Amino acid sequence: MEDIVTQIKQKLDIVDVINSYVSVKKSGRNYKAVCPFHNEKTPSFMVSQELQIYKCFGCGAAGDMFNFVQAIEGVDFPRSLEILADRAGVKIPKSEGFDNQNQIKKKIFQINEISTKFYQYVLLNQKAGKKALDYLLKERKISEKSIKDFRLGYAPDSWDTLTKFLRSKGFKDEDLILSGVAVKRNVGEGIIDKFRGRVVFPFVGVDEKILGFTGRTLFNREPKYLNTGETPVFHKSFFLFGLNKSRLNIKKEGAVFVEGQTDVISAYQNGVGNVICVSGTSLTDNQLDILSRYTQDITFCFDSDFAGIEASYRAIEMAGDKNFNVKIAVIPEPYKDLDELFRNDPARAKKILKTPIPVYDFFLATALKRNNKETALGKKAIMEELVPVFSKISNPVVFEHYAKQLASELDISENTVFSMLEKGKSSKSEEFPEFEDFGQKFPLKDRKIEGYLISLLLKSPVEKSKEIIKKINKEDFLNENLSEIFEKLEDYIKDRKSDINVKAFTNKFEDEQKNLISELYMWDSEEDTENNEFPKNLEKELEEVAERLKKDSIRKQLKKLSESIKIAEIEKEEDELERLTKKFEKLSKSLL
Ligand SMILES: [Zn+2]
Repeated sequence: MEDIVTQIKQKLDIVDVINSYVSVKKSGRNYKAVCPFHNEKTPSFMVSQELQIYKCFGCGAAGDMFNFVQAIEGVDFPRSLEILADRAGVKIPKSEGFDNQNQIKKKIFQINEISTKFYQYVLLNQKAGKKALDYLLKERKISEKSIKDFRLGYAPDSWDTLTKFLRSKGFKDEDLILSGVAVKRNVGEGIIDKFRGRVVFPFVGVDEKILGFTGRTLFNREPKYLNTGETPVFHKSFFLFGLNKSRLNIKKEGAVFVEGQTDVISAYQNGVGNVICVSGTSLTDNQLDILSRYTQDITFCFDSDFAGIEASYRAIEMAGDKNFNVKIAVIPEPYKDLDELFRNDPARAKKILKTPIPVYDFFLATALKRNNKETALGKKAIMEELVPVFSKISNPVVFEHYAKQLASELDISENTVFSMLEKGKSSKSEEFPEFEDFGQKFPLKDRKIEGYLISLLLKSPVEKSKEIIKKINKEDFLNENLSEIFEKLEDYIKDRKSDINVKAFTNKFEDEQKNLISELYMWDSEEDTENNEFPKNLEKELEEVAERLKKDSIRKQLKKLSESIKIAEIEKEEDELERLTKKFEKLSKSLL
């Protein structure tokens, strides 16, 4: 069946397919149309010929040609396959029973089960698995019992050991691809193992069936974690790692979200049984809906450097919206994550997970810890941190409780606090820029300048992009994801002679960032594309946007510096004051 999908995709172009339903117009490197899935006057529905996908920046609809036909015709996948096969003149062999989804699912479960046993056999019994076994037992301190309980394994560092093994069991190549354990070769014919040189963690469903895998590289290759993509049995936005083991405990004790698979396993082998994590995705509504069948209590676990907080803010908000009682557990310094804490002080780790604090107390405590509440500037900074958070509290009793507490902590009048929080309610928070919503407010050039710059860099002539990239640093980006993408782009473009191949570039990333890059690439630059001036305008736009980003970044640094200078003045730290002032002068000159 995978073969048929590929054949159809080779014969049809998504632009033509979509154009037969709604009229599409060329816009720069992409095409755009008025979205057929929501009401709009100005087009925000983009189609990429290079990536063969579409994305609506208004309603979020996105996918490939099969998704499009399913959505617009209101049919399921097999029917969309028939429609497009017909159009492409590709015959669907009836014997394959493509419409018998259960048959297919059964086969995938078999393949996944055999693969799991194969990986574990290599890990525990083969010389090839020695390094992986050492890594798990010695470095991660995962016990042999846990390895067996979680069915961990090792995918050998060879092209097709698993593929050959599964063929010998009578499975066809197309079944291996469909289940996600093998992939087509990039060049040439044939298929290869998807997971190579990786410690493999099976994704186990609540019925103990194997849905897919994630593999952690043993050889410092990218991506660090590789996941099974969407298959007929695995849907990552619904999957919670560990739920098969923890769901009964979760019913009694609530759920604890941790960072990754090894944190779940560490907790589990130390007797904490209500722990789960998401894999290769941010927390989704689907996952929360599933969790709500078991509990209304969620604890999010954070590292002591608070690095994850901003990223998790959206998750906290989503959980709050669904009426979960959200609490926070913080890993104390100097431990960098839960796994490390469990390895060094399991008793303390357990205690921390069992006694989380309510989310708003947590925000209040961290703001107080990071700033000096005795000074005016400190008070201002604390309010700036907390207004966007507390103004979102919908329950009036809870709202008043924290408003009063905040007023008393900072020793300012309740009226001031209330009016600031009320104001915060009406103006949407800028403190936590979230990428999810960048589509809805398309084009948002001003607020989302970082993403827009990447978008332009991907589409501009390579020499121009190189020139601009030299002027920007990854530190100029506030958004961590974008900063990371920028860094890789910098590296990718360094020795390139021809324009960026967006498909090859996105392949360097895991699903989530891949999607983000595709989105950015399809972000319309709104240039006049009717006449042939497009490349020229694009370059000009790129220059302006880069300059604006650079200046924004400098202004932010200056603002921080001037606050430090004020503090140094008050504290009479002469040397520090001189150093900061010099830095300030030098930096402000670069703004001119
Ligand atoms: Zn739409």
